[in-house]
Amino acid sequence: MGELFIVSSPSGGGKTTLIRRVMQLLQGEGRNAYFSVSHTTRPPRPGERHGVDYYFVSREQFAAMVDRGEFLEYAEVHGNLYGTAWEEVAGKREAGWDVFLDIDVQGARQVRGKVPDAVKVFIFPPSYGELRRRLEARRQDVPETIRLRMRNALNEMREYGEFDYVIINDELEVATRHLYAIVTASRLRSQRMRGPVEKILDEYARHLKEEP
Ligand code: 5GP
Repeated sequence: MGELFIVSSPSGGGKTTLIRRVMQLLQGEGRNAYFSVSHTTRPPRPGERHGVDYYFVSREQFAAMVDRGEFLEYAEVHGNLYGTAWEEVAGKREAGWDVFLDIDVQGARQVRGKVPDAVKVFIFPPSYGELRRRLEARRQDVPETIRLRMRNALNEMREYGEFDYVIINDELEVATRHLYAIVTASRLRSQRMRGPVEKILDEYARHLKEEP
C-alpha cells in the first residue's frame, strides 16, 4: 500500500512546484509516485491541459459526481469547485504508488476523516510580500482574484496546526529537501516496512534452520 500525502498551502505557496520536484527525485530512485489530478469547475488558464493539470468540468457534471459519491473530498475554493475523485487515489495506492494531493485546507480536513493515516504537510509562504509577488508573477489572475486569494490565505494559514508537518517555502532547494525528507521518513515507519522486513526475517530464519 502506498502512502497518501496531502500537501496544502494558500495559492501561490509553491506546493505544485515542490510536489513535482520531489516526485522527480522519487522517480529517480525507481519509486512509483502519482500526482492526483483534481476535477474543477474553474476555467482553464492558458497552457493548462484537461486530464493533466485538472479535469475541467461544468458545475452540473461536478454536482452529478458529488451525488454519485465519487469524491474523496471536494470544496469550494475562491468561488470555484475543486474535488479529488476516489478513482485518482485508491487504485494507485493499492498498487503501491505514493499519491500526492495538492488540495486546500477544507479538503485536507475531509480526507483526514476518511483516510486517517494520510500524511498532512502545510507549505507556508515566507511572508506577505513574497506571496503577493508570486501571485503577481504568475500573471494568471486579475488583480481582483489576487486580492481575494491574499485575503483567503490568512485564514488558511491559521489552520496549520491541523497538519503533521510545516515547511516554510523560502528557498525552493531547501523546501524540496524538506518535503523529500518527510516523504522518505514516512515510508520508513516500522509498520510501513513490514513487507521487506518480513522477507529478510524469513530468509534469515531459513538459514539458521539449515545450519548444522
Ligand atoms: P488553482 O485554481 O490556483 O489551481 O487552485 C486553487 C486552490 O484549489 C489551491 O489551493 C489548490 O490546492 C486547491 N485545490 C486544487 N485541487 C483541489 C481539490 O481537488 N480539492 C480541494 N479541496 N482543493 C483543491
